[in-house]
Amino acid sequence: MSKEENLECSFCGRKKAETDLLIAGVDAHICDKCIEQAHGIVEEEVSEQNTSALSKDLLLKKPVEIKAFLDQYIIGQDETKRAMAVAVYNHYKRLLQTTNSEHDDEVEIEKSNIVLVGETGTGKTLVARTIAKMLNVPFSIVDATVLTQAGYVGEDVESILSRLLQAADYDLEKAQRGIVFIDEIDKIARKGDNPSITRDVSGEGVQQALLKLLEGTVVNVAPKGGRKHPEQKFIEVDTKDILFIAGGAFAGIERIISKRLNRQAVGFSASLDDDKIDEEHLLQYIIPSDLKAFGLIPEIIGRLPVLSYMNPLDAVTLRAILTTPKNSIIKQYTKLFAMDAIDFTIEEDALNYIVENAVAYKLGARGLRSLCEAIFTDAMFELPSAEEKVLKVTQQYAASKLTNSTLKKLRAAS
Ligand code: ADP
Repeated sequence: MSKEENLECSFCGRKKAETDLLIAGVDAHICDKCIEQAHGIVEEEVSEQNTSALSKDLLLKKPVEIKAFLDQYIIGQDETKRAMAVAVYNHYKRLLQTTNSEHDDEVEIEKSNIVLVGETGTGKTLVARTIAKMLNVPFSIVDATVLTQAGYVGEDVESILSRLLQAADYDLEKAQRGIVFIDEIDKIARKGDNPSITRDVSGEGVQQALLKLLEGTVVNVAPKGGRKHPEQKFIEVDTKDILFIAGGAFAGIERIISKRLNRQAVGFSASLDDDKIDEEHLLQYIIPSDLKAFGLIPEIIGRLPVLSYMNPLDAVTLRAILTTPKNSIIKQYTKLFAMDAIDFTIEEDALNYIVENAVAYKLGARGLRSLCEAIFTDAMFELPSAEEKVLKVTQQYAASKLTNSTLKKLRAAS
């Protein structure tokens, strides 16, 4: 027998002839089977480590701490921040329960998917995005209005997951613990009262398709671009640990709330005096049945068990949004100017002037940025190459940059 054939795997003792591959090390050999087995052990070990890292990560933050984190980025909206903190905490506790099989018992914690009701621009997406940032999980946004039932023109509901996969860099494990924000959920309300719609392609059908996703199911997802790439192989995504946050303006829902409250008031007229209804802020009284009256099917509402609302932004809040959050608009401009060694200051009057315009032209929080952009663009163009790198923004300076035509343009764009 040649020396070569005498070789054997130092781990399992198989002779070279019995293996497909025998790899030589310094003083030993290893066969393909042992490599595979060792690889399996490594993978298992790593995944266990990941799970415990996940446990550590997620258990680190209690609801109070989650809210404190949100406070750094989101002004006001305390009710929603509290509700979200609890929902997210419970969601990830549930997740730990399912990953730690030793802790398995009969009590199964249900998902705490969330629905946020409030005007556009009040911070719904921001809250969802900030939570994802805190947890360091992948985050994706989908617009419910583009979703259709499979087979119709538009995006299938499954495309929600292919975006999340993308956000997770195709790391399936990560994607399966991610957060999906479904915007404009109110737009897929059943249009039952509208007889002109014969085939409700984007209404109830989409709600039905969403149901399973929200609850938890395994979906075959085309990694990119849905039906446009039929040659791509499907990835099985399990949605049971994905947290869904839905948001919508639900325009006109105040009327539904008011009607319900008035109906109740008739029945409980005695208690009405101590419990006066704040007619200006009816959203705070919202309950799940109002969403049903609006046109969401009860099953969807049942799968979005945490319901909260966003307050409209008043001038005081808008003023705070300009400078207070950790990455506030003004802090961002300050940083940008500092990178060019530009000495940038903005006076209180100028800040108030920006807010006044945002209110007067109904531009909301998003408008604050456009207003700043209009005011600072000239300086951002000229100062980097100027001799004297100073920008002092007074109310007068701001007013000189915000001409009527600029404001009109912003109003039209909002
Ligand atoms: P929505 O999803 O409700 O339409 P967004 O979350 O997209 O609103 O908000 C638009 C922008 O307005 C955000 O990116 C943020 O800059 C700002 N904004 C809105 N509400 C707040 C808030 N409460 N605190 C801080 N910034 C806010």
